[in-house]
Amino acid sequence: MCGVFGIINHSEASKLTHLGLHALQHRGQESAGIVTSDGGQLLQHRGMGLVHDVFPEQQLERLTGKNAIGHVRYSTAGGSALKNAQPIAVNYSRGCLAVAHNGNLTNAEALRERLEERGSIFQSMSDTEVIVHLIAASVQHTVEDRIADALTQVRGAYSLLFLTEDKMIAVRDPRGIRPLCIGKLRGEENVHTVASEPSSFDLIDAEFVRNVEPGEMVVFTESSVRSMRPFSSMPQSSCIFEYVYFARPDAVLDGISVYEARKNLGRALAREHAIDADLVIPVPDSGVPATIGYAEAAGLPFEMGLVRSHYVGRTFIEPSQSIRHFGVRLKLSPVGSMLAGKRVVVVDDSIVRGTTSRKIVKMLRDAGAKEVHMRISSPPNQWPCYYGIDTPTRAELIASSHSVEEINQYITSDTLGYLSLDSMKRAVLACRTAPEPPKPNGNGIHLPVLGPSTPEDFCDACWSGNYPVRFIPHSGQRQMRLMDI
Ligand code: AMP
Repeated sequence: MCGVFGIINHSEASKLTHLGLHALQHRGQESAGIVTSDGGQLLQHRGMGLVHDVFPEQQLERLTGKNAIGHVRYSTAGGSALKNAQPIAVNYSRGCLAVAHNGNLTNAEALRERLEERGSIFQSMSDTEVIVHLIAASVQHTVEDRIADALTQVRGAYSLLFLTEDKMIAVRDPRGIRPLCIGKLRGEENVHTVASEPSSFDLIDAEFVRNVEPGEMVVFTESSVRSMRPFSSMPQSSCIFEYVYFARPDAVLDGISVYEARKNLGRALAREHAIDADLVIPVPDSGVPATIGYAEAAGLPFEMGLVRSHYVGRTFIEPSQSIRHFGVRLKLSPVGSMLAGKRVVVVDDSIVRGTTSRKIVKMLRDAGAKEVHMRISSPPNQWPCYYGIDTPTRAELIASSHSVEEINQYITSDTLGYLSLDSMKRAVLACRTAPEPPKPNGNGIHLPVLGPSTPEDFCDACWSGNYPVRFIPHSGQRQMRLMDI
C-alpha cells in the first residue's frame, strides 16, 4: 500500500507536497520521496522512514520548482530498501520523468523479463520501474501517448502520478482498484492537486474537486487540465478493504464516506452476531468507527477498553514475525478498572495471521474480563492481495486453513463472529452519496463522480478469491545482487 500526492503551479510545491504526504502517512511508513520540477529539470529526494524524518526543512528548501509529486511507501512488490523508494525519476531520450505509484502490477515480472532480454537495465525490484522502461521504449511521440502506450501493456492496480518538466499526469487503472482524487487550492485559479485520499487536501486548504475516474488520464499543466480516456473500459473493481481498514476515516472515496461505511459495517455486524454482553470496545484505532456502529445497533455501552500508544506505528508494518509479537504489547494496553468482571465484545476490522487477536484476548482476560467475544467487521481473510495491499502468503492467513471455530479456539475468545461478504458490501454501498452532477468548467474537469454502485463494483478477492485481474505468478528466484550498504 502506498500514498501519492502531487501539486502543480505553486511556488511552495515541495512544502505543500510534504504536508500532503503527512496526511497520507498511514498508507506507508517505510520510505518517502518528493520530486519537483521547475520547467527545466527535476529535483529528487527520497529516504527511508517517515515523512517527517526524510524531509528536514533545509531539504525541502532545496526542492525548488512549482510542480511536485510525492510518495509514501509500504512495500508490496520489491523489498524495503532505498532503491525501491519512490518517486522513481529518470532521464530518457525525451527528457525527464518521475513517477509515483499506488497499487501493484500483476504482470510486472513477465514484462521485466521481456524488457531485460531486450537490454533494459533495472535499478530496483519495484514493479513501477517496468512502467518507466515501457515509456522509454515507446515509439509514440507525446509523453501522454507514451504513458498510455506503456499502460496498455501492464495489468493490475495502478493509481499513478507522473511529473515531467512541465506537466503532472494522473492515471487510474481501468478498474479503479485504488483511489485517486483531484483537488484545487482555495482562492487560487490554477493550482491543482492530486492525492490518494482527499484527507491531504484539507491540510493544505484545497477543496475536493472529484475523483480521477477508472481508466482516466488527467493531464495538468500550469494553465490547463485535460481529461483523456486512453484505455478500453472495464467493469469497476474498487478495493473494498480501503473502506474496511486502509483509508483514513475522514476520507470520502468514490462518493462513499469511509467513516460512515465503517460505522455501518459495525451495525451490520451487531445484527449478524448479536451476543449478551456488558460493553463493546474497539481495537484502536481502525476498529473505532465499527465499534461505535456495533454499540449503537446492539444497544450496548461503547468504552475504550484498550488504550493505544501513539508513539508506535502500525504493528503490521514491522517486517519480521518476532518484532510483530512484541509490537502488539507495545502498542495496546487494557484499562483494567473498566474490564474487570465484564462480558466484553471486542471489535476489529480484520484478522490476518491471528497474532494480534490472540494477544488482545489474553490481555483482556489478564485484565479481568469475564467473557471476551471477538467481532470482525469483514469476512475471513483467506486470499492474498495482488493489487497493492501488503498481505502475507496464503499459508500465513489463518482463515485459509482454519474454520471460524478453529480460529476462535486459536485466539482463545469465547465466541468469534465475522461479517458476511454480502452484508459487508451492502453496508458499504448504503453509505454512498448521490452521484455528483457533472461539473462543466471548461478546462476538462467535467465528469460526474460515478464510483461503485453495485456489489459487483468492488474487488473482494482477499475474502472470495475472485481476482478481477489475473495474477501471473513468477519464479520468485530473482534477487537484486547489487546492494547499497
Ligand atoms: P494479525 O495479527 O496478523 O491477525 O493482524 C491483524 C491486525 O492487522 C488487525 O488489527 C488489522 O487491523 C491489521 N491489518 C489487517 N490488514 C492489514 C494490512 N494489510 N496492513 C496492516 N495492518 C493490517
